[in-house]
Order: sequence, then C-alpha cells, then structure tokens
Amino acid sequence: MVNVKISNVTKSFGRNVVLKGINLEIPSGKFFAILGPSGSGKTTLLRIIAGFEIPDKGNVFFDGKDVTDKPPYKRKVALVPQNWALWPHMTVFENVAFGLKVMKLPRSEIRQRVNEVLDLLGLKGLEGRYPHQLSGGQQQRVALARALVVKPKLLLLDEPLSNLDAVLRIKLRGELKRIQRELGLTAIYVTHDQEEALALADELAVINEGVVVETGEPREIFIMPKRLFTAKFIGRTS
Ligand code: ADP
Repeated sequence: MVNVKISNVTKSFGRNVVLKGINLEIPSGKFFAILGPSGSGKTTLLRIIAGFEIPDKGNVFFDGKDVTDKPPYKRKVALVPQNWALWPHMTVFENVAFGLKVMKLPRSEIRQRVNEVLDLLGLKGLEGRYPHQLSGGQQQRVALARALVVKPKLLLLDEPLSNLDAVLRIKLRGELKRIQRELGLTAIYVTHDQEEALALADELAVINEGVVVETGEPREIFIMPKRLFTAKFIGRTS
C-alpha cells in the first residue's frame, strides 16, 4: 500500500501540452479511478506515476518521498497496459515468471510465486499455453498475474477490461476489486467508461484536456457533479 501525491505535473509532447498542472492525492489502499474522454492525458499520467515518463515540471511522491526521477523498477509499481502486451512466444508460466527472472530470484522461489498468483487468478492448468491459445478473459488474467507476481504496492491499470465483452467485463471488475482488497494494494484505474468508474472506484478524478475537473467519491460526482463538463460527460444534462 502506498499513498500517491501528484503535485503540479506538466507534460508536453512537442507542442502538444498533454498535462497542464495536475494535482491529485491518491490515499493508501484505495481503488482510485481516473475517468476522462479519449485523449485527455490519462495514459500519460499513469505512465508518469509508473516512471515510464518523466514530467517536464512537477513531482510525484510515494508515501511522502519524491520519486519523480526514480526508474520504474525501483518504485514497487506494476502497470497493466491497455493491450495487455503479453509475449506471444512465451507460455503463460514464462510470461508471468519473466519479471522474477529479471530480478534473478532462485528458481524454486519463482516457481512458488508464479503458482501462487496463477492460483489467485484461476489460471491453474494453463501454465503451458501460449497467449493465442487463451480466451480474452484468460489473457487479461495473465496480464494481471504478471503485474501481481512482483508484489507491487501500487497497481496501475490502463483500461484493462476494454478489450472484453460486456459480460466478462462485469465479472472481472468484481475479481479486480476482490484481489485489490485481499492483497491490500493501492490501485489506480484509468477508464473512459463512467459506469466502470462508478462500479469500481472508492474515489475518482475526472480529467479533461490535461486538467483535473473534479475529484470525489463516485456517488457525489454522479449525483451532483460540480462542473458542467462532468455533468455533460456523465450524461446528466441530456
Ligand atoms: P488518454 O489515455 O486519455 O486517451 P493519452 O495520455 O494517451 O490520453 O494521450 C494524450 C495526448 O498525448 C494525445 O494527444 C496523444 O496523441 C499524446 N501523446 C501521448 N503519448 C505520446 C507520445 N509518446 N508522443 C507524442 N504524443 C503523445
């Protein structure tokens, strides 16, 4: 579990100012959603929190410590990207074990940790399959297993369910929440899907064009949005 503070973060790509002074506080152990339309800067913000991008200005703090310039592998974070990015030439076991091999853990420990996480996600028996031999839901679970096996304190999820059909999406939402609680993780979940944010989040931030429009508990925001943008985005003025 980790408390994340984002302080005045600005990021441009060339002339495109993608994040315009973002301030956010994500409390330890919460499931926090970042909700906004496509192109609003959500993925960029998540990549900055993970350490894959460095902000032009501003800072990122984990438990009060400035991690802005720390590389991803020193942050105890795991990012599940939108397309899952499984390695097609590796089996399920190898995909999940890869991060631990890089960490040079002993083989017996790797085996034990991979088995634990495969168990947690209901993937037992699929160890020897390749990604193309799995259903979409199973591939998503492998991506999550790969993230969790390194025992992160912070789990970052970039629209992880958007490639799945509606029924599976709803089922996996429940699982995600259960795992986050069970493992006591702070989770940051990026989505453009208001219903998903409402169902999952303890707290959420609405973002548009690189600016935080409002933050709060989902019920507050959905029942009584303070900003016109939020009201329009969640369809209350139509
Ligand atoms: P979202 O996740 O909300 O869809 P993104 O953070 O992916 O938004 O993108 C916000 C803007 O930043 C888009 O205009 C996108 O084209 C631009 N962008 C994102 N990453 C890069 C990059 N590596 N190089 C150039 N432009 C980028």
